[in-house]
Amino acid sequence: MEQTEVAVIGAGFAGLAAARELQSRGIDVVVLEAADRVGGRALTVRSAAGSPVDLGGQWVGHDHARMTTLAAESGMTLLPTPVGGPALVVEQGRGARRMPLTIAGVGLALLRLELSARTFAGARAERVTVAEWVDRIPGDRVRRLLEVVLSEAFAADLDQLSLRTLITGIRSAGGLRVMLGTAGGAQQSLLSGGAGALAEVLAAKLAPAVRLSRPATAIACTAEGVIIETPAGPLRAARVIVTAPPPIAAAIRHDPPLPAKQRRAQRDTVMGTIYKAVAVYDTPFWRAGGGSGEMLTLDGPVPACFDISPPGGPGQLCVLIPGRRALALDRLDPDERREVVLTVLARHFGRAAANPLSWHEKSWHLDPQVGGGYSALPKPGAPAALIDATTPVGPIHFAGTETAPRWTGYLEGAVRSGEHVAATVAAGLR
Ligand SMILES: Cc1cc2nc3c(=O)[nH]c(=O)nc-3n(C[C@H](O)[C@H](O)[C@H](O)COP(=O)(O)OP(=O)(O)OC[C@H]3O[C@@H](n4cnc5c(N)ncnc54)[C@H](O)[C@@H]3O)c2cc1C
Repeated sequence: MEQTEVAVIGAGFAGLAAARELQSRGIDVVVLEAADRVGGRALTVRSAAGSPVDLGGQWVGHDHARMTTLAAESGMTLLPTPVGGPALVVEQGRGARRMPLTIAGVGLALLRLELSARTFAGARAERVTVAEWVDRIPGDRVRRLLEVVLSEAFAADLDQLSLRTLITGIRSAGGLRVMLGTAGGAQQSLLSGGAGALAEVLAAKLAPAVRLSRPATAIACTAEGVIIETPAGPLRAARVIVTAPPPIAAAIRHDPPLPAKQRRAQRDTVMGTIYKAVAVYDTPFWRAGGGSGEMLTLDGPVPACFDISPPGGPGQLCVLIPGRRALALDRLDPDERREVVLTVLARHFGRAAANPLSWHEKSWHLDPQVGGGYSALPKPGAPAALIDATTPVGPIHFAGTETAPRWTGYLEGAVRSGEHVAATVAAGLR
């Protein structure tokens, strides 16, 4: 039987960071990855212009120290996220406007939420959905813009998100300004080569420890060690680190069964629902005359668009469509979907937007290996304390962005969780 000291399940950023840390300490490691690629929720493809296009995680925040270090060590630079003119709010039939009063109303509601976060603690905040909270905010446009901003930030419909999850997420990102911000915030930079490509660089350095298309199907704790079953045969290890997102890890059978607390973390969470598309153009033509590539829409199929062009071009517009709007797009064929999205972009940015050089899309909730994004979210009514539920169970350890107390749901949280668990595992082995 194949043997190693530590088996890592999943070659996303958490798994790769854990394996890298263990290898650097001289510990033998094998990474089992279910998919035929590494990166998990990070995936970089090439545009017709040759530029890297991230279809999953892309932004690196101002204080994402571990991602910044990994990028530098891998020869990538952080590119500033373009900030053009002021973002416009679009309302069908009324066109695009600055809507300063609506934006101020949203800012005020979010500020009050942040200030009163303590009063929302506990079971009440677990039961109240964000949709119910938003319903109590005065002003129809304010409510609709809040719905766009918050569902974009969490990749979920607000009736599927508890107030407690929202508050926990905001805290883990260091506050709302940071969470929603570009310069000085979570969207400050983009990776020159792409986040998925960075994962490939990390995996290449670990080779031949990374085994693709090798899903872990079962974990048995025996007197001879942990036996991890895979379709290509079992692997024996002294320790195992599970980095698959909790609802996806639920498919792995355990002998003996996991304690109730861990099972609940898997059963009572769902992955966010998110469709992402990137349209690539010769140039960022929307900037002519000081225009912005950022747009928020109060109605229609495309709630938000962002400029993710690298300096010097090409032009790249990114749309992130969460929740029911994403599910509605799933019912269309690829050409119809492209038409729906590009029609909205052309209406706003001009006819040139209808004809990109290349077009790239991914419905993450249809991805069988990760099941959605940006991250797993506790179902309304379930406790938000995933982290408590991910303490080790004998030789089985858990990592992944969902387990990170800081930057939960982000690439940075994934890396931190992987490095943290590797240090714990290494301390137990040596
Ligand atoms: C559309 C989208 C946009 C995002 N944007 C951003 C952003 O701009 N900035 C940011 O910081 N974050 C962003 N995120 C979130 C970020 O991508 C994730 O937080 C991060 O990639 C999670 O890494 P992870 O290693 O914890 O999990 P994953 O990347 O999900 O890795 C888990 C791995 O486990 C594998 N696996 C699952 N089951 C098994 C099994 N049984 N056996 C073996 N392998 C298995 C999976 O295939 C996967 O490779 C985004 C995510 C999405 C989907």
